[in-house]
Amino acid sequence: MQTHDHRTDLAVQRVRHPLKFRLLQVKQVQALTPHLIRVTFTGDDLHDFVSASFDDHMKVFFPEPGADKPALPEAGPDGPVFPAGQRPVARDFTPRRFDREARELDIEFAMHEAGPAATWAAQAKPGQYLGVGGPRGSLVIPTGFDWHLLIGDDTALPAIARRLEELPPGTRAAAVIEVADASARIEFDTRAELHLVWCYRNDTGYRGEPLLQAVRETYLPEDGEGYVWAAGESATMRAVRYHLCTERGVDKSRIRAASYWKQGAAAVHETLDD
Ligand SMILES: Cc1cc2nc3c(=O)[nH]c(=O)nc-3n(C[C@H](O)[C@H](O)[C@H](O)COP(=O)(O)OP(=O)(O)OC[C@H]3O[C@@H](n4cnc5c(N)ncnc54)[C@H](O)[C@@H]3O)c2cc1C
Repeated sequence: MQTHDHRTDLAVQRVRHPLKFRLLQVKQVQALTPHLIRVTFTGDDLHDFVSASFDDHMKVFFPEPGADKPALPEAGPDGPVFPAGQRPVARDFTPRRFDREARELDIEFAMHEAGPAATWAAQAKPGQYLGVGGPRGSLVIPTGFDWHLLIGDDTALPAIARRLEELPPGTRAAAVIEVADASARIEFDTRAELHLVWCYRNDTGYRGEPLLQAVRETYLPEDGEGYVWAAGESATMRAVRYHLCTERGVDKSRIRAASYWKQGAAAVHETLDD
């Protein structure tokens, strides 16, 4: 893939937002699939919420056992200041949909065996409270690329769905997604010309392998300027990025790959670069 520096419209931009912690209340809970739960939150704290990019993330704070509200930090000059002795459990999630007028924020939780976030989502009910911090910043990837390739697992579905919703009509886009089985598929609302590939880890029993194989088989346009976005399990994302940059010639400035979680470790977030 060539890079053309004169295409200033394709510059990726960083935007900072004031750090803020918000208390939100569950309005609605909806199982989109047996593997993905959408929770709609509401609250006056959302009046100045900002999410400038589809791959923004927030820290979601969960109440301690027995408490109905999470202990939220204050925003200090150098970051969050936690009340003495209280550091609430927090995990990263994507703002899937935000409606300022309705003061509504959706988060979609991928279900898995254990962990405070998945456990909380499995029992979520209207009226319950959670806290969110951020987004602190956004990386805005222009929609004007000639083609877009989106790669991920269940944890990337909210970002991929949001991106597909915002791409202009007729944009060339491909999405390659690994989930457990066909019951985990979701519908995408998009005006892009979408080439969609689902692959299933239950077919092989090996997490990440079907995704890597599908990425290997994915056609990359020779012409035009493209951008690759990838998020999911750490080792898989490293292998995906290595394959695309080393074996397929994707320029490192035209790929954003992130570990959204890591097999065997809690609360991992890494942006992958060299
Ligand atoms: C920027 C960013 C945005 C994210 N957006 C979303 C989002 O919108 N929706 C979403 O569902 N997730 C999202 N994630 C991933 C989510 O933060 C992690 O999956 C997180 O570890 C879940 O917390 P937990 O408390 O359920 O499990 P943890 O306590 O963190 O982990 C417990 C165990 O479960 C394993 N584990 C964690 N996640 C998974 C999984 N998905 N499948 C299988 N095993 C897992 C861990 O390896 C660990 O062994 C995002 C992550 C990042 C960094």
